[in-house]
Amino acid sequence: MSQNRTPHVVIVGGGFGGIAAMKALADAPVRVTLIDRHVYNMFQPLMYQVATGGLNAGDVTYFLRSLRAKQRNADFRHGLLVGIDPEHRTAIMSDGENLQYDYLILANGVNTSYFGTPGAYEYAYSMYSRSQALRIRDELFTRLEQAAAKQGPDEIRVVIVGGGATGVEMAGALAELRDQALKDAYPEIDPSKITITLVHRSAELLKPFAPRLRRYAAKMLRKRGVELRLNSGVEEVLQNGVRVASGEFIPAEQVIWATGVAAHKEVSNWGMPQTHGGRIEINDDLRVKGQDRIFAIGDIAAGDDPLPQLAQPAIQGGKHAGEQILRLLHGKPTEAFHYFDKGTMATIGTNAAVAQLRGGITMIGPLAWLVWVVIHIASLLGNGNRVSTLTHFAVRYLWALRKRAIPIVGDVRPVRPNGDREPDPWALQKAE
Ligand SMILES: Cc1cc2nc3c(=O)[nH]c(=O)nc-3n(C[C@H](O)[C@H](O)[C@H](O)COP(=O)(O)OP(=O)(O)OC[C@H]3O[C@@H](n4cnc5c(N)ncnc54)[C@H](O)[C@@H]3O)c2cc1C
Repeated sequence: MSQNRTPHVVIVGGGFGGIAAMKALADAPVRVTLIDRHVYNMFQPLMYQVATGGLNAGDVTYFLRSLRAKQRNADFRHGLLVGIDPEHRTAIMSDGENLQYDYLILANGVNTSYFGTPGAYEYAYSMYSRSQALRIRDELFTRLEQAAAKQGPDEIRVVIVGGGATGVEMAGALAELRDQALKDAYPEIDPSKITITLVHRSAELLKPFAPRLRRYAAKMLRKRGVELRLNSGVEEVLQNGVRVASGEFIPAEQVIWATGVAAHKEVSNWGMPQTHGGRIEINDDLRVKGQDRIFAIGDIAAGDDPLPQLAQPAIQGGKHAGEQILRLLHGKPTEAFHYFDKGTMATIGTNAAVAQLRGGITMIGPLAWLVWVVIHIASLLGNGNRVSTLTHFAVRYLWALRKRAIPIVGDVRPVRPNGDREPDPWALQKAE
């Protein structure tokens, strides 16, 4: 039988959902093509660690092509999906190539939404990709160098917008970075001049968590020197701070946007039905409404009762979509997807985390933190990443080493006039 007669499954997105779908089809009599606009998978739950110098970007990055070594029926295609032609079963790539599919799985995730807040796109740093996480880190260290060289403001005021898990984790990690590493590295800077403020629209942090966990998170952040500005929706982001709904201006050298997600803009050209936040509407078997060969899973998909935009719904959805394709290939009807909620977690920093488990069980403190560490290391792709993340966590968190915790840094802009060589011509070309 020719290779071309083997049913072809195209999966768009090598995130949690796409990889789970690909693995579910490992032993199936199909060809699988995984498409991603990046050549890597980024483990988003630990991205804030990259942004705060706790982990290397490579520790949480996995080369998607290497999945082919583990799965012989899988191929990888680097590129951006820009259109779908369901009638001719064609996935249209931005470079003009058309890929024929028998089944298509949309697992392309979502992106930052600024809710139309003026100035947010221009001035705030969002954290949805590896390059954005690195930009946050490099900008922070540029500000620190400026302050140390007396070449800019002597204060480094970081404002984090959003008190969900990402905002809380970011604030906790920044506080720890300041208290454990920056004091010694930057004796020129008065530590009281490095401030972290978390601005949140509602009265409590971590809305999806139980009240006890929300209170604990707020208490631990305050204890670690994070100022909480609750009931303060950000109305505008300016070059030098944010303006909240009351009209008050909160000054900041760096604003980090840690709230809100929406579909990528190209999704509106795919002709799929979309609902809140641009999510693609699906039936209970995870097929897109009105489509019999197209599935949507993970963050981009929403059924009548939408699931939270977290890793587990994407992983379980990916597995289910793969299994349904197998059923269809065997002439069987599809089955409804049932999400198994294993719980959610967030960490505030060393020895402080909150966990909400199945059956209403909640955990706080060192035990929750230990569970958080184990789960996150185990969930990473690749043994190399697990080992290097464990090593960097040990350097950052272990009591004996904490005093010597050295942040991971990257390139910092020269802060003094003529503080660097003229850039080489090739560097200028590359920057274009
Ligand atoms: C900072 C941060 C922290 C988080 N922390 C947690 C946490 O602690 N716990 C938790 O459960 N969840 C967390 N989440 C949410 C979790 O990461 C997502 O719910 C999960 O990644 C969704 O998986 P997915 O497969 O739907 O999409 P993603 O994992 O986002 O993967 C989508 C993939 O599609 C690719 N892609 C996008 N558009 C296209 C296109 N047009 N063509 C080709 N490829 C495309 C992208 O490059 C990406 O690789 C966090 C998210 C962020 C941003």
